[in-house]
Amino acid sequence: MLKNVVKDKYKRPIISLRITITNRCNENCLYCHHDGMVSSKHEMTPDELFTISKIAKRIGVKKIRLSGGDPLVRKDIVEIVEKIASLDFKDISLTTNGVLLEKYAQGLKDAGLDRVNVSLDTLNRDTYKYVTSKDYLEKTKAGILKAVEVGLYPVKINMVVMKDINDHEIKDMFKFCQEHGIILQLIELIESESCDDDDFSNKHHYSLDPLEEKLTNISDEVHERKFMQGRKKYYINDGEIEIVKPVDNAKFCASCSRLRITPDGKIKPCLLRNDNLVELISHIRNGESEEELEELFMKGIYNREPFNKED
Ligand code: SAM
Repeated sequence: MLKNVVKDKYKRPIISLRITITNRCNENCLYCHHDGMVSSKHEMTPDELFTISKIAKRIGVKKIRLSGGDPLVRKDIVEIVEKIASLDFKDISLTTNGVLLEKYAQGLKDAGLDRVNVSLDTLNRDTYKYVTSKDYLEKTKAGILKAVEVGLYPVKINMVVMKDINDHEIKDMFKFCQEHGIILQLIELIESESCDDDDFSNKHHYSLDPLEEKLTNISDEVHERKFMQGRKKYYINDGEIEIVKPVDNAKFCASCSRLRITPDGKIKPCLLRNDNLVELISHIRNGESEEELEELFMKGIYNREPFNKED
């Protein structure tokens, strides 16, 4: 799998590219870190996104993930997926709030999308409204079920666990996932600008450590994902839970294999930093060669530093 893959100076292979294709979103989650992006109204065309993916492929990237904002608010989302899929990556996925997924799932599948992660923190309508500021719970659930139906596989639910908001719902969410063959991904809340004002992230931070201990005891099997930030996967009664713990986690950073692209076309080496971006889109618009664009990717990779380092 790791043939022809570029490594950064910390010997971390660059396997995946996460492209934030828009900052626009149809929800307004109270904790949202906006994929670590600086606000920008600029977006890239499907052809420009294709060029970026092509260069990524040249340097050995195997997986592309599209994110946002919400990627499904782009009316050309199917065309974008189709263009990128023509490059024959090992895996193309998308992260969405699911509001528009019922409408697009079949088209995305036909265009070559492999799988989808849908953010869903709660199955309770009032909590959903509180967290997202929108009344779209039923739309989101319908989108998730449609994704399963059309064969996007696996479907994962991203649940950001928050103390006193949805921490009591983990069991119910897991049951919902088991019923529909969905993987539950539990995410630890990261501090972000959207929620810093009222100390939201401190008040509602919920450590997943005790839960991991419990899961270790009751799981049929536990796996650790080598290149996906050391995430652990727990298999229980035909169900699957994955744990994402980025907060102050040196191991998470040590096995990070991801490079990012901002909606306005910059290479972003780390979710949590914006001081080491590499300008890319103006070079594409100037018609520079693939070799020159590859050099810019190398610069982005050179800028990669683990945000949390081991002592
Ligand atoms: N709009 C899409 C969605 O809702 O999935 C994609 C963008 S959203 C920024 C991508 C992922 O980041 C979602 O799964 C969301 O739950 C997660 N996320 C956003 N803010 C977060 C935070 N403060 N802590 C942990 N995860 C967060």
